[in-house]
Amino acid sequence: MKIGFIGLGIMGKPMVANLLKAGHEVVAYDVIPANVQAVVEKGAVAASSSKEVAEQCSLIITMLPNSPHVKSVVMGKDGVLEGAKEGTILVDMSSIAPLASQEICKACAEKGVKMIDAPVSGGEPKAIDGTMSIMVGGDKAVFDEVYDILMTMGGSAVHCGDIGAGNTTKLANQVIVALNIAAVSEAFMLSTKAGVDPQKVFDAIKGGLAGSTVMNAKVPMILDGNFKPGFKIDLHIKDLQNALDTGHGVGSPMLLTAQVMEILQNLHLKDMGQCDHSAIARYYEELAGCEIRK
Ligand code: NAD
Repeated sequence: MKIGFIGLGIMGKPMVANLLKAGHEVVAYDVIPANVQAVVEKGAVAASSSKEVAEQCSLIITMLPNSPHVKSVVMGKDGVLEGAKEGTILVDMSSIAPLASQEICKACAEKGVKMIDAPVSGGEPKAIDGTMSIMVGGDKAVFDEVYDILMTMGGSAVHCGDIGAGNTTKLANQVIVALNIAAVSEAFMLSTKAGVDPQKVFDAIKGGLAGSTVMNAKVPMILDGNFKPGFKIDLHIKDLQNALDTGHGVGSPMLLTAQVMEILQNLHLKDMGQCDHSAIARYYEELAGCEIRK
């Protein structure tokens, strides 16, 4: 099938590679020409705008940073809705605010375009392996129609509810990940300051109740002092802001999320916004005057 793909960053590039590997044709666009070139070298065809992608494809996937980017790519000048034919399916796999998904879906429906929100979890390694967890909101019939294509990029794809439900699920995921990295940082600093080798602590507890996918992915990075993204602090600030706004909107307490948000904001102010979110450990390291290393 011919699939349009817009947004070729850390996640978009390997997702396109997996679509190509599964035998699909991909028409790709990004505002950064080098990112387009990277997927053209793998076999994709370059487009010069989101509108041009939509003119050529009846299924379009977007993988963009946040709500304003998706709104402008879909509803803006030279955007998807300027080029899309009636019956086109838009699968937005970006992590954005659930209310924005609903607004974009409404604008799509006015032009006869069917949209679902399908954000992902798993980060770059699982995007490369094609084993991401995909959480979907929107019309179940559209989900069923694109299920096989989602599964060329994911290890699971679950329909969670109406449009926006995918992104609500993703916010829950991001709260758990952020709080988990903060808990890991606090605990590993405690054991380091108390004089126990953090590598031994990791080896001893990773198989027990405290073990987690987050611990397995992030502790080796912290022990190496490697904070190359991965998932950027600035993107996690975006997700926690969306989580706080949604929590306040529906009346759900967000105490711990608010605290970790302050840690992320502090790291952003210290020019670490482009570091991996495992750099939450750096915040603890500065407070404690000590590094968590092998
Ligand atoms: P990224 O910043 O690496 O990539 C985003 C891409 O979108 C960039 O290449 C950028 O040039 C492009 N873009 C921005 N505005 C555009 C426009 N108007 N037209 C065309 N292209 C445009 O981000 P990423 O890490 O790939 O993340 C993408 C989404 O996936 C985000 O919502 C993020 O929260 C989510 N996500 C990321 C990870 C991760 O580990 N990186 C994991 C799960 C989910």
